[in-house]
Amino acid sequence: MSYAIDIETFLAEVADVVKDKEVPVVDLIAVQTRDPFKVLVATLLSARTKDEVTAKSAARLFKKADNLFALAELSEESIAKLIYPVGFYKTKARHLKRLKEAMAEFDYTVPKTIDELIRLPGVGRKTANLVMAVAFKKEAICVDTHVHRIMNIWAYVQTDTPLKTEMALRGKLPRKYWLTVNSLLVAFGQSICRPIGPHCDQCPLAGPCPQRGVRPRKTKRKIMKKEQELRLISWNVNGIRAVEKKGFADILTGLDADVIGIQETKAQPDQLSEALKNIPGFTSYWHSAERKGYSGVAFYSRLQPVNVISGLGDAEFDCEGRVLTLEFETFFLLTIYFPNAGEKLKRLDYKLRFDAKLLSFAQELEKKKDVILCGDFNVAHKEIDLKNPKSNVKNPGFTPEERAWMDSFTAAGFVDTFRIFNQEPGQYSWWSYRFNARAKNIGWRIDYFCVNQAAQPKVKNAAIRQEIMGSDHCPVELVYSP
Ligand code: SF4
Repeated sequence: MSYAIDIETFLAEVADVVKDKEVPVVDLIAVQTRDPFKVLVATLLSARTKDEVTAKSAARLFKKADNLFALAELSEESIAKLIYPVGFYKTKARHLKRLKEAMAEFDYTVPKTIDELIRLPGVGRKTANLVMAVAFKKEAICVDTHVHRIMNIWAYVQTDTPLKTEMALRGKLPRKYWLTVNSLLVAFGQSICRPIGPHCDQCPLAGPCPQRGVRPRKTKRKIMKKEQELRLISWNVNGIRAVEKKGFADILTGLDADVIGIQETKAQPDQLSEALKNIPGFTSYWHSAERKGYSGVAFYSRLQPVNVISGLGDAEFDCEGRVLTLEFETFFLLTIYFPNAGEKLKRLDYKLRFDAKLLSFAQELEKKKDVILCGDFNVAHKEIDLKNPKSNVKNPGFTPEERAWMDSFTAAGFVDTFRIFNQEPGQYSWWSYRFNARAKNIGWRIDYFCVNQAAQPKVKNAAIRQEIMGSDHCPVELVYSP
């Protein structure tokens, strides 16, 4: 199929949509300072980093060093401290520390050609183009990931890398857009045409847009029909108010799920914003711990349940807000936050009592209809389920006692759905925040979707969504045909 969009109309519509949106931070710094040095530094900081983080880090750095010579006076460690938490802050600090030395050949001024700019430490084509366009108003096309992505969604180019997009745009994009296209599409990509779940329902281009490879967000509740496939998600968010600041509502919508089970909300209903309780298209259900800022589970559902059950019916566990059940016509769905066995295994006995109670609760439900259990089980079942099994035998989450319970749970007929489809090692759902563990994939698979044996034929797929960030856990997914 061939598409031919009218780029002038498209960019005019985008300009209209984003006129009240935030200006990308690098443009903002250019407007505020008209200083190529600051534009260069802010552009270096902005790679793989949210605009608001870049803005704060750049402001901290410029307060201490607002020119090249002052920057060279700072140690690499102080630069790293000032720019933290931008992405790759240590590498960026190293590059910034070397900037003065590298700019000596340009008389300590920011060079004005792409070929010269890319000789500076940490400066690639994208950064060079952005500096050319924003600081010097020179003919350059900066291709941020938003530009690359959106131009491909529009089928204006059909490329697989930002560099190829830049080259293709040089051949066909009218020159009058070269300087502005990046700012326009970054603002548009951050607000409407988002990478996950673009807001096509609010977009003036929804009619003519080819929407190549796009899965728009859903905004309507739906009625469950027999034979339909449901996408179910489980995610330990490690504090729902913290993840709200990282764009939780958009991530949730973009997951394209029918029901999402959440664990470790760490919030009581009166601590939740209205926006968090009422995400368009979903009804939310909450079961919180009595203790503030601790444990807690929730559901967001597009489907209307016939019944909601809070807890296990046992005060010892229900005061910690660990289990919430939605009953649908043909199955029960549980979101569970299993206790952690704790430092020096102080809570191992509590956890084992919880495990036993949970199993008998699920077995009672199973007598009525199928049961799907999802959540953070806080245990890696087998050696394949964590990176370093040998050194963790006595640690919470991999003790023989906890693993023995998982054995008895599966012996009772409950099936770990992920292992139906995937027998590979290195498939993890949790990584420590320390030691750069996620980047090195030193993790554990402790988040599960399990079903009773009779429901197994209805399981169509199970997956781990490692690409979703925002917590030390990533979501896990089940595709299920009730
Ligand atoms: S219709 Fe959707 S995919 Fe197309 S530009 Fe608008 S938000 Fe992006």
